[in-house]
Amino acid sequence: MQPSWMAPVKYSILAFCSYCDRTHPARLTITMEDGPTKKATVGEAFKHKTLPSNLARLLNNAILCPETANSVMLKDRNKVYLVSIN
Ligand SMILES: [Zn+2]
Repeated sequence: MQPSWMAPVKYSILAFCSYCDRTHPARLTITMEDGPTKKATVGEAFKHKTLPSNLARLLNNAILCPETANSVMLKDRNKVYLVSIN
């Protein structure tokens, strides 16, 4: 049986970087009440949900790759990950 209320879980956002094939933290944390229990992409986690405005904003922006100093665009929500923080 599913509990009717779940404690909100905090997630940090990681972005996959095609320049160095690693994920980089995007310096954003979000909270979800019924979010994924494992590492999931934004595309999976928000398939049937509206993106929170701070996350939507992030997806219109780029982060800097610390390895190559390239700008990594975060447009592809299937390459942006949510990882729960305890
Ligand atoms: Zn990188």
